[in-house]
Amino acid sequence: MAKTKPPVEKNQIIELEFSDLTHEGNGVGKIDGYPLFVPYALPGEKGKVKVVKVKKNFGYGRLMELTEESPERVKPECEVYRQCGGCQLQHMSYHMQLEMKHKQVTDALRKIGHITDVPVHPVIGMDEPWRYRNKVQIPVGEREGGLVAGFYQKRSHRIIDMNTCLIQDEDNDRMVETVRIIAEKAGIQPYDEEKHRGVLRHIMVRTGQKTKDIMVVLITRTRDLPHKRKIIEGIRKAVPNVKSIVQNVNPKRTNVIMGEETRVLWGDEYIYDEIGGIRFAISARSFYQVNPTQTEKLYNKALEYARLSGDETVIDAYCGIGTISLFLAQRAKKVYGVEVVPEAVDDAKRNARLNGMDNVEFFVGEAEKVMPWWKAQGLRPDVIVVDPPRKGCDEKLLEAIVDMQPDRVVYVSCNPSTLARDLKFLEEHGFETKEVQPVDMFPQTSHVECVSQIVRKGEAGS
Ligand code: SAH
Repeated sequence: MAKTKPPVEKNQIIELEFSDLTHEGNGVGKIDGYPLFVPYALPGEKGKVKVVKVKKNFGYGRLMELTEESPERVKPECEVYRQCGGCQLQHMSYHMQLEMKHKQVTDALRKIGHITDVPVHPVIGMDEPWRYRNKVQIPVGEREGGLVAGFYQKRSHRIIDMNTCLIQDEDNDRMVETVRIIAEKAGIQPYDEEKHRGVLRHIMVRTGQKTKDIMVVLITRTRDLPHKRKIIEGIRKAVPNVKSIVQNVNPKRTNVIMGEETRVLWGDEYIYDEIGGIRFAISARSFYQVNPTQTEKLYNKALEYARLSGDETVIDAYCGIGTISLFLAQRAKKVYGVEVVPEAVDDAKRNARLNGMDNVEFFVGEAEKVMPWWKAQGLRPDVIVVDPPRKGCDEKLLEAIVDMQPDRVVYVSCNPSTLARDLKFLEEHGFETKEVQPVDMFPQTSHVECVSQIVRKGEAGS
């Protein structure tokens, strides 16, 4: 790169024209080729920008005034959009959000995976891209002797009061406030993060979208929860749909929300939900997709890409509580699921029984270790489905896929960069990516989910 000095200085105010967007949704404007990232600016816009940070190859600016507006700009619906930071794209039309996510996927495939000739379909969006989340986790703090439940201000741990969160299910939203008032009345001490004192750390509420079941989780620093009875009574009275009230104990100084120990205070250990006619029991600590409406579309695509006729043996790596496994089991001969969290595997087994499915087996372990072992046992899958966390698949897992030589691989991904990296590996080892379908699971935020179909070269249909 050039050794020249950046063309701007800190605190300088400049006129800038925006030509692009980053994956986080920041506007990009260039001065003599030097990019400046500016939150809340959109491509096609012009504005006055104050330079706030200057690095060697790029800088950051703050938008002071817009002199030319994009027709895609919309007024953010949320009152606290800028302070919160939970959403990044509320200032652009939903149409533009979907276009931007599509570009994010094609860019990653091209730049990281060197994949340019694979169809990436238009992003499947939502008809109503609000109020979609079925789970809320809100930190609790103290204010003027009372309890405040809100969100952390961007890049800080200051809790800001929040009336409503527009991407949350309305019931969840109301529930958090109800529980806050009940806890406050009962005299529960809020957790003080700095001093590591007090009791109530977070309030979590999860709703079954189809069943309307509600689970309330009180995450506390101490095992002891004073005025337990009063709290339980209060919640039961205020929330007729509550099916489960649970305490999770997290005694550590940590940013991780939940601790190891979960105790049922009242009702069941689970709530239920349904996706595509399959019923799932969900416990407090298990992973469950947060947008069930879009999850159904995603899983149906995964099922379509698996092209099952009923005779196939399928592996679902990273299976969680068995959601995808059970979707596939409807049309496969046998499905093997593997997952590293033991509680999730217990849930998966329970879910198989709940739906009367006896052609699924679940195993606890790291997929990258269990798969080679399965191979050694002579397991020969026709289809392998992977749905890894953001860091993507372990290379050992990809090697195991290559060794097992399935006809098809279905890759569900929440991170286009690691997806592109892993597709490249598979492309270099005898597989071919056929198509990629992005799905908007998280409207108003910069995240995008994808499902991809990959086939073994030489396989019919490849
Ligand atoms: N397919 C499920 C879960 C996807 S989330 C669903 O759609 O609901 C990814 C899952 O991978 C999580 O449940 C996580 O616990 C699990 N996981 C993370 N690392 C793993 C590993 N090395 N081996 C197996 N599972 C893993």
